[in-house]
Amino acid sequence: MGTMKIVAVAMSVIMMLVDIPVGALGNPRSSYGLGSACYLSGKNLLYSLYVNTTESSWGKEEKEEVLSKLEIACEYIEDCAEQYHTKVELVYDWQENRNLTGNARVKFPICDQYDFVDKLDEEIALWVESKVDYEGLMEEYDAEGIALLVFVNNPVSSYAIVYDGIDNPKESVILEGEETPAAYAHEILHVFGAHDLYKDAEYTKEVTDYVKKAYPLEIMYTVADERGRKYDDKIVNVVSPITAYHLGWIDYTEEIDIFPQLKRKQKNERGKGL
Ligand SMILES: [Zn+2]
Repeated sequence: MGTMKIVAVAMSVIMMLVDIPVGALGNPRSSYGLGSACYLSGKNLLYSLYVNTTESSWGKEEKEEVLSKLEIACEYIEDCAEQYHTKVELVYDWQENRNLTGNARVKFPICDQYDFVDKLDEEIALWVESKVDYEGLMEEYDAEGIALLVFVNNPVSSYAIVYDGIDNPKESVILEGEETPAAYAHEILHVFGAHDLYKDAEYTKEVTDYVKKAYPLEIMYTVADERGRKYDDKIVNVVSPITAYHLGWIDYTEEIDIFPQLKRKQKNERGKGL
């Protein structure tokens, strides 16, 4: 009881500082920016939105293929959490839960040859208001958090729209249908706080060299195996203590003493990650 009161007081202080109404999604409840996919613990929802473009569309079988890869990714994440003594349940199966999926269409191509990101981000900003009822679904499923998965059936680089403390806290992940389950898991982990640990992304070479040596199969470092092979039917990567710490599964790992830059970021410091 006493702890809850302290938390409540601390939260109201934080909310006054950032001027966000009580109960709104994305209240920064810790030292790092948290959006609609806050902590990767307990029950969290993943809403699948299938996007048709001027160049590509989704058929029933293709959607089901994506769902089976999503299943591998979600079971993997749940298993990894368990290794860190955290209970995670990801609710993603839209065949069981019909209100966890939908369709959308855009009037431009989504492919790497075309500069679509700003346009798509604008569409997503509308969809998270008009197509997906974040608050209603969280209430209905009694869930801790929610993220939107935007599936595109064309070769593009997947990315995550992570709440940085300023923009809309309704978080989403853009996934190419052809990507592997490991890539799905990598992007999904981003919205729950995981950071890129590969070279030239978020950290110095010192850090990425260390990760390469200490955890060569870390999922935020690579989505392939040690020989560069990728798999459609399994995930061979690991969640190292560094990512477990970023996800909030553990509160400390010795690496943050060696590399202070790995400490969980302050609010407003998180951004988009590929
Ligand atoms: Zn990434």
